[in-house]
Amino acid sequence: MLPIPIEKTFTYAVTDEEASFLKKGMRVAVSFGKSKMYTGLVFNIHETAPTLYEAKEIHQILDEVPLVNDLQLKHWEWIASYYMCSLGDVFRASLPSAFLLESETIIYKNDTFKEESILEDDEYLIFEALQHQSQLTIHQVAKILGKKKVMPLVNELIKKTAIYIKEQIYEQYKPKLVKYVRLHAAYNSDTSLNMLLQELSRAKKQREAVLTFFQLSTTKKPIKAKDLELKAAVSPTILKSLVDKNILEFYEIQTDRINFEGDTNALKKLNEFQEIAVSEIKQNFKEKDVILLHGITSSGKTEVYTKLIQEVLDAEKQVLFLLPEIALTTQIITRLQVYFGEQISVFHSKYSMNERVEVWNNVLENKTKARIILGARSSVFLPFSNLGLIVVDEEHETSYKQFEPSPRYNARDAAIVLAKLHKAKILLGSATPSLESYFNAQQKKYGFVALNRRFGNVQLPKIELIDVKEKQRKKEMKGHFSDQLLKLIQEALDLKEQVILFQNRRGYSPVVECKTCGVSPQCPNCDVSLTFHKFKHELRCHYCSYQRAMPNSCSACGSNTLDTKGFGTEQIELELKDLFPDFKIGRMDLDTTRGKFGYQKIIGAFEAQEIDILVGTQMLSKGLDFENVSLVGILNADTMLNFPDFRAHERAYQMMVQVSGRSGRSKKQGNVAIQTYNPYHKILQQVATTNYLEMYKEQLQERWQYKYPPYYRLIKITLKHRDYNKVDTGVNWLFKALYSSFGELVLGPTAPAVSRIRNQYIKNIVIKIPPKQSLADTKNKVIKIRNTFEAVKEFRPIRFIMDVDAY
Ligand code: ADP
Ligand code: ZN
Ligand code: ZN
Repeated sequence: MLPIPIEKTFTYAVTDEEASFLKKGMRVAVSFGKSKMYTGLVFNIHETAPTLYEAKEIHQILDEVPLVNDLQLKHWEWIASYYMCSLGDVFRASLPSAFLLESETIIYKNDTFKEESILEDDEYLIFEALQHQSQLTIHQVAKILGKKKVMPLVNELIKKTAIYIKEQIYEQYKPKLVKYVRLHAAYNSDTSLNMLLQELSRAKKQREAVLTFFQLSTTKKPIKAKDLELKAAVSPTILKSLVDKNILEFYEIQTDRINFEGDTNALKKLNEFQEIAVSEIKQNFKEKDVILLHGITSSGKTEVYTKLIQEVLDAEKQVLFLLPEIALTTQIITRLQVYFGEQISVFHSKYSMNERVEVWNNVLENKTKARIILGARSSVFLPFSNLGLIVVDEEHETSYKQFEPSPRYNARDAAIVLAKLHKAKILLGSATPSLESYFNAQQKKYGFVALNRRFGNVQLPKIELIDVKEKQRKKEMKGHFSDQLLKLIQEALDLKEQVILFQNRRGYSPVVECKTCGVSPQCPNCDVSLTFHKFKHELRCHYCSYQRAMPNSCSACGSNTLDTKGFGTEQIELELKDLFPDFKIGRMDLDTTRGKFGYQKIIGAFEAQEIDILVGTQMLSKGLDFENVSLVGILNADTMLNFPDFRAHERAYQMMVQVSGRSGRSKKQGNVAIQTYNPYHKILQQVATTNYLEMYKEQLQERWQYKYPPYYRLIKITLKHRDYNKVDTGVNWLFKALYSSFGELVLGPTAPAVSRIRNQYIKNIVIKIPPKQSLADTKNKVIKIRNTFEAVKEFRPIRFIMDVDAY
């Protein structure tokens, strides 16, 4: 199997001796094409010589033991066939790139590596060569050493961390740092303390802070800077000036795995509802392999998972815990680490190469420190040998679906298949299940367990809908805020509670328009208007990285009458700063979280209550748990409802209920205020009453009526090319061909809402597959048509993308 998008596997020749050593799942270096060298994977060992080509010899065996096991190979085959992609695509997506050296792979020296003494002679030669030349390809390494078989040597250099290979430089997962204060070394005896207090007799606030510090130190626990500020009722500047005077000093402690070394804590005692849920789940698992846990927000699903995880660990089996987005879920990671400490490994495609290689090997060897894998979607590819349980948290999340590049898989569905291969159980959890999972539960395909009480019996938040049209008419809007929302914010702030405001658009305003001629500045590469970002005074495209300075005048008519329309998070943040000048406003969207540890910084600051009001996009809907939030405001519900997609209403419901769920989680019932032009919209009514079942029934009815999932399946075909006419001709040809096979079940061709991205024109065709029609037959027919399409010379340059379950 080669890590390239080619349907077939290839046969290579091995000697008797090699054949007796080789096993399925080992890597071999092989040449392919004219002069290319790849890392291939042994998929099968057989004695049938190929008829169409002569088998080349393999170059070298790269592993002593298989790197990929049989269950994985079976899983890959399922993915390739279900999602209509090549095995090579799955192979490449599955393995950390460090495992896939090829002749063109570029290596670099690791400048922090200093243990040159551990390098063998040949290894040192290459390491030294990299002092003179900033990079080398594997091909050049072979030349320098005067031999062909160099991949194991390069692998060894990577293992010893002397070099790294070119890939995106990823951020490493860094634990969150918490700021603490202690007394400066100069002041540790009573005498100096008295002097100190005298010295500060005229700085009242500083004196207060020092006194409070001594009160707090009697507990002998480390003192958080934030706690001291709160207790002494002083601002951070006061502490800072005490530090400047060398009276106090700041230090940091990692609130992370480092802390948990060898140290685990007992699981929390479940309340009666959680207990019932756990026993129902266990009961259900006797008959069903998949269970949907529908637990409302803050019902304590995480604690239910931990109970089940513990039992699987006791049976010495592996656990996979899937999360939609690692960066946003550090809270859950920390919570699980408190219980399971060293047995947890976190896996994420954005981790550094070395970390990913390390986790891979630990899972492969079934090490105790990789008994529980917490990971985003790509962790379904790890070499598990002994899975007992998979948990898919927030199973409804779109981030489980990979849209680009191939394989375009849904990790939740791939995990269900993975569990089956391991004869393991799988639990899907959500407060707002996807329609298809709930449907499967209703059809008794999955088991079903509900958890309908918030932990601590706090009630679900009180949700009110605010009619913006009405408010505008009565002149009760200030900027984008209704008087009612402002009143609720003020009340929360007065009680020292925190507020979350949700606006699902970033930037200042999504459209700039000339008042004289009506023209909007467009992206030169995409078919979309540019978004205005006020802080940087820029226009940006949210589809490609294009940006330019905001012009002073209209480029079409020259008048200086450019105006902004619509609003994003940046505008809300600025308005809030005017409205609440004494409070700290934070913003969480793609623009503010881009930097190093951007998410953790903002989440951490909000947790530490350094931020009073947090404005953000859908990132805020992802399972965050803040105890002091008593109000969630949704500034404009309508954009979500008007999105042109068959799932728009389901998604809008999920997003709003999830965001609302951040309110009032710990002490008392929270509030939610939703501003809309459409207060009678049925989805908003369902959100306001958290009536999942009604939403489900209505949506399901529409799905049946309009032939959509979960009844009909969808395969989406996308064609892309720089030349509009080429795509257009291609798509029309394709449509005719598909139509003759599938008739009315083929929809299109259509241009998506943004019909050109990065200078590529885009056309879509959707094929609907009725409940009783064979999926395999349909796919075979589609593949035949694609092959014919690709055989037409003028269509060959067109990108042909197939996406199964493209939602
Ligand atoms: P969900 O994932 O269902 O939204 P969480 O698991 O985040 O809910 O739980 C909500 C809050 O309640 C968390 O702060 C959690 O620590 C707390 N909690 C849940 N169950 C328990 C328990 N059995 N004992 C103590 N605290 C709990
Ligand atoms: Zn103009
Ligand atoms: Zn663009």
